[in-house]
Amino acid sequence: MKRGQQHELKGEKIDAVINYTENKYKNDLENLVRKRLEKITEDEREYLEYLVDWCCSRDEFMIEYFESFTDRMPKDKIEGLRFLFRTGLLMLGGYTTFGSRDKAYHHDDCFVPLWVKPILQEIFKELSEVPEDVEKVQERIEEEKKVRDVCPICNREVFYGEKWTKVFGRVFHASCFENKAGLFRPTDDERSLGEMFKRLKIISGDYRWEVPVGEGTHPYLGKRRIDLVIRTEDEDWVIEIERTLNYEAIGQVTAYDELWKERNPYRKVRKGIICFTAPEDLLDVAKKKNIEVFCYT
Ligand SMILES: [Zn+2]
Repeated sequence: MKRGQQHELKGEKIDAVINYTENKYKNDLENLVRKRLEKITEDEREYLEYLVDWCCSRDEFMIEYFESFTDRMPKDKIEGLRFLFRTGLLMLGGYTTFGSRDKAYHHDDCFVPLWVKPILQEIFKELSEVPEDVEKVQERIEEEKKVRDVCPICNREVFYGEKWTKVFGRVFHASCFENKAGLFRPTDDERSLGEMFKRLKIISGDYRWEVPVGEGTHPYLGKRRIDLVIRTEDEDWVIEIERTLNYEAIGQVTAYDELWKERNPYRKVRKGIICFTAPEDLLDVAKKKNIEVFCYT
């Protein structure tokens, strides 16, 4: 450009020139600031993080009032400002206006230059990221607060964070289970399985074992007995106990249910089978026949 030659630049054109200049040196300047931040003291790191928090959480990279900016500055305010200006994280700006009688008004501010913003935003991202293991711990705490089931013994909720035991499809507090069952565990015989069922209060009521039904009156049930009838306040449970859920048990309990209803027309009757194990397909059959299966395992 020849001396004395002038370009008339206005509005958009001025912005374009500024953008061009800034972008031309941006990378160099950004690297320069990064280099200056490579070896900083712990105190200086605090000033840096303070600036990061101030600017990035507001998304404002201009500081108009020093007082409010330095208000919560950690350590030493002056030291902090010196560090921020020395490293080029902040630059002084502002302008002066003249009022009547040439009275000058100074409008001081400072700003984070364009090339420093990515550095601050990077640090902000690091600072606001929750470490993964903390997230996992929080997730686990939330999980543990969830309710797993209601314990049949104490009628209180069993939370995921608690020790528990699952028997007969019901979830117990491990301690409630131990208190009730003690060292008792059902053995191979069906009666001990029924005994365990009673101890654990899976259904509370009056337990009647080997209840005779259909004696002499029924052609094929003959003198058979219902393994267990539990009389609760408002219903009678007709229950068969078998090691493994089978068709015979389903058939028996269906027939006994009919006979029991005939003899106890004013009671609501429900069907149940207590067993150690149950094959999936028969569980479906039982469900269709409205038979509740209480499987030990
Ligand atoms: Zn309990």
